[in-house]
Amino acid sequence: DDIGSQMDRVVTEEQWLQKWDTGNTGFHKEQGHPLLQKYLDVLLNGRSGLRIFFPLCGKAVEMKWLADMGHNVVGVEVSEKALKEFFAEHSLPYCEEPVPEISGAKQFQCTSGNISLYCCSIYDLSSSVVGKFDGVWDRGALVAVNPCDRQRYVSLMITLMEKNSSYLLVTVSYDPNKHKGPPFYVPESEIKSLFG
Ligand code: SAH
Repeated sequence: DDIGSQMDRVVTEEQWLQKWDTGNTGFHKEQGHPLLQKYLDVLLNGRSGLRIFFPLCGKAVEMKWLADMGHNVVGVEVSEKALKEFFAEHSLPYCEEPVPEISGAKQFQCTSGNISLYCCSIYDLSSSVVGKFDGVWDRGALVAVNPCDRQRYVSLMITLMEKNSSYLLVTVSYDPNKHKGPPFYVPESEIKSLFG
């Protein structure tokens, strides 16, 4: 568990925007994630009409899956290009509005109403703006957060969760000395201490 080599690494928002602009988005998967399929029952736990949060959402196709099942999906993503591609690739009409509480932020909402994506940094969100969630799909999110921001990220996520919410977290396992990340290696022991 020598993660020392990654602890100081920082990927700026500007660099993420650049990845989207240059199509350097190998993390995006056209096929929905098999682990969401596998653990869907854990996320839903027999409930319907849930509010489900996608932190650092990119243009994750799983947002469409869950919306099609009748859930309300909320995502946050710094790249406007990613969000526009999401709606275009699923042929979903949307409207675009400013977010009064967050300067510079935009909200993209599909006209059918059950997908609402915020274009801003996740660190600008709070439960007073987005409310609380019954479920979280965290794939490519905690592992994309800069190691120095992990505690802040997790503390925020905890404030966005309802009492009985389920949190599905996908991490990656590899030798952190051989790859600088992202995705970063977050050892299980750290996940336990972060989430408590
Ligand atoms: N969860 C998505 C995308 C993973 S890649 C998927 O499964 O495909 C991480 C994404 O987070 C990128 O699209 C990047 O633009 C975005 N991002 C990085 N920092 C962010 C921040 N502080 N707030 C919101 N989005 C951010």
